[in-house]
Amino acid sequence: PGTFSHQFDTPSYKGTITVPTGLFIGGAFVDGSSNTTIDVLNPATGKLLTKISEATPQDVDIAVKAAQDAFDTTWGLNASGAKRGELLYKLAAVMDAARDELSALEALDNGKTFGWAKNVDVDFSVAVVKYYAGWADKITGQTLETDERKLVYTRHEPIGVVGQIIPWNFPCKCCISVQCIRAHIMRSADVCVENCSCFGHREHHRLEGFSIIVYLSTKSLTHHKPSEFTPLSALRMCAMIQEAGFPPGVVNVITGYGNTVGAAISSHMDIMKVAFTGSTIVGRKIMEAAAKSNLKPVTLELGGKSPNIIFNDADIDNAIEWTAHGIYWNHGAACCAGSRIFVQSGIYDKFLEKFTERSKSIRIGDPFGQDIDQGPMSSEAQFNRIMGYIESGKAEGATVHLGGDRFGTEGYYINPTIFTNTTPDMKIVKEEIFGPVGVIIKFEDEDDVVRQANNTLYGLAAGVFSQDIDRAIRTAHRVQAGTIWVNCFHNFGPNIPFGGYRQSGIGREMGEYALHHYTNVKAVHVNIGHRLA
Ligand code: NAD
Repeated sequence: PGTFSHQFDTPSYKGTITVPTGLFIGGAFVDGSSNTTIDVLNPATGKLLTKISEATPQDVDIAVKAAQDAFDTTWGLNASGAKRGELLYKLAAVMDAARDELSALEALDNGKTFGWAKNVDVDFSVAVVKYYAGWADKITGQTLETDERKLVYTRHEPIGVVGQIIPWNFPCKCCISVQCIRAHIMRSADVCVENCSCFGHREHHRLEGFSIIVYLSTKSLTHHKPSEFTPLSALRMCAMIQEAGFPPGVVNVITGYGNTVGAAISSHMDIMKVAFTGSTIVGRKIMEAAAKSNLKPVTLELGGKSPNIIFNDADIDNAIEWTAHGIYWNHGAACCAGSRIFVQSGIYDKFLEKFTERSKSIRIGDPFGQDIDQGPMSSEAQFNRIMGYIESGKAEGATVHLGGDRFGTEGYYINPTIFTNTTPDMKIVKEEIFGPVGVIIKFEDEDDVVRQANNTLYGLAAGVFSQDIDRAIRTAHRVQAGTIWVNCFHNFGPNIPFGGYRQSGIGREMGEYALHHYTNVKAVHVNIGHRLA
């Protein structure tokens, strides 16, 4: 298998980074069985960066076998919590030492700015690995009160080989937080296929890398598939996993397309659980494939159309800053982006004026440039998708208050865009755009905004801005979403659960909650002298 070397000579990063481009199976980089490749493009120029191996369903079988072998020998019930924790701490240290390198790969492959990649994706991924390292030797069952002639206790046993399918928006963070990390903490063996943020470098909300680490914490094994659009950081992570000393097969990363490799993972008879981060439409396919195969449990981290509610009594300058962060962070490619901005009528005009000025101040350009806030969209497909939504907003009669067009002539850059005068049935109000495009909607009172905020298929996150603590908490409780931010937006913590209501997903990532998805609970009944006769 080959490698990809890239020389960086940018204001943010200088040096050469080499990334293996094969599949990572059984602790080694290997060629895919078909010998075909996938092009990886630079979103800042649209030009070819490298070619990576394209996995096939046959490679999924090989990776699952490698994971199962590890599970039965070096991992599974044979790796103590202390040992798993130690390996995870080592991995965190290896990642810590390579923060700049991982950030440069994310910026190159995904188009997010180097600064954001470093301060959020990579920083958070390291924190998640450390958090679950701490859990590794603390995952225990219970003894249960019955009567004096009986002892009952539970064991939290690793679920087995886990498949993790990751998107492109937070390749490292998703990989680590969602799948990679879970795998590390628990007792399973992990087969990652191609879209993990952390490993694959194209999104999970979380070096959204929560998954693999949790998994390792509980002794489960993991197969990881990063996104075909952003595989570089995941592949670099494989080398780090080797360096940290994880036994071969505990983590396997295979790069391939969703409809082949992703489908093979979700329908595989020997994969015992699938963690998926991606769109709602694909999440539905994953669940269907799981049901039709071995009824494996699934956790789904899906899309959103999060409301961000600003009341008349908000600290307006604070609300403006967080609202801009809410919609423009990661060029709007965030599952929980605050894309429906509800502003109470008393401050609507003032808010719109100030928010427009703030939006105009977003600095667009080369993701490696200093003082740049927004890089290019991650791919041509994503660029076209967002521009399509902007055109639909215009065609359906909304007002383009700001932007609505591309930035420059090369690469996939889009200007921050604000729509006003929308109606609830417009596509730009109902559907996830996943770009720097927000709609600003006027509301009258609390009941009105709660009704509008909940008028969605999604339920991932929401923001509430008010200086009246009663109103803020009342609204936080009435809005139906897995995360509510009061007077802030896009705040996360490795110990804080993240996940969606409704069609935004099933299950939770991060925190103690995520661990439960990676273990089976076994109840053992011990009879102490009770005779039937
Ligand atoms: P996507 O659903 O198109 O792809 C996600 C992954 O699924 C990719 O690895 C893809 O190859 C794979 N895939 C595609 N078809 C498949 C199939 N039939 N079977 C199995 N796997 C298949 O999503 P995307 O465009 O990569 O990412 C953007 C989406 O991810 C957005 O909707 C965003 O909201 C969501 N997301 C959610 C979270 C969260 O935590 N809730 C975090 C990040 C991204």
